[in-house]
Amino acid sequence: MNGGRLWDWEWSRAPSDIEERQEMVSLNDLLRQQNLSNSGDVWIWKNNEHQEFSVKNVKYSLSQNFDLNSVPCTFIWNNWVTTKGIMFVWRAIEEKIPSALALRSRGMNQIQVICKTCGAAEETAGHILLSYNFARRIWEAITFWLKIPMVNAEGSIAELLQEISDIPRSRKMRKLIHAVVVQTMWVLWKIRNEKVFSGRQV
Ligand SMILES: [Zn+2]
Repeated sequence: MNGGRLWDWEWSRAPSDIEERQEMVSLNDLLRQQNLSNSGDVWIWKNNEHQEFSVKNVKYSLSQNFDLNSVPCTFIWNNWVTTKGIMFVWRAIEEKIPSALALRSRGMNQIQVICKTCGAAEETAGHILLSYNFARRIWEAITFWLKIPMVNAEGSIAELLQEISDIPRSRKMRKLIHAVVVQTMWVLWKIRNEKVFSGRQV
């Protein structure tokens, strides 16, 4: 406008607390440094010399920082479970699934951390997958069906996986139990998402 630039924000809710206002200031700083042109938008990857965005370049940057092959030492892979299921549980062990609490700690301050399903606790991976009432009832049914002792729903996901791998059964049976447990967690997560995003009771 008149050779200058004006940002016309369309807020659904204006930034309110100090943290959000500070984020707003740094966003404005970033935008000020940015030159607008009439050419089309492109993705760039800054960690790469030519700033070319590709999966290969992303992988390369990540591998400079992490060992991509490392897994939690107690974690057991299981080829009887769907890949989505086992990957999900692997991430859930380290609270790397987008639970409300995880999103809050990644800086999304507007997130309600109280569980939307029961309202009784903060929404952590352990809460969704083990300890809230609905999950506990599912575990009671699952363990009854598998003829194994009820799992400890108060502990962590890693502890539960350890617990079931110590059950005195044949190797094959333990693998089967592990597969059911992992897949149950995956289904509990999908049920949670249905409730949170579609309001559907499953
Ligand atoms: Zn809950």
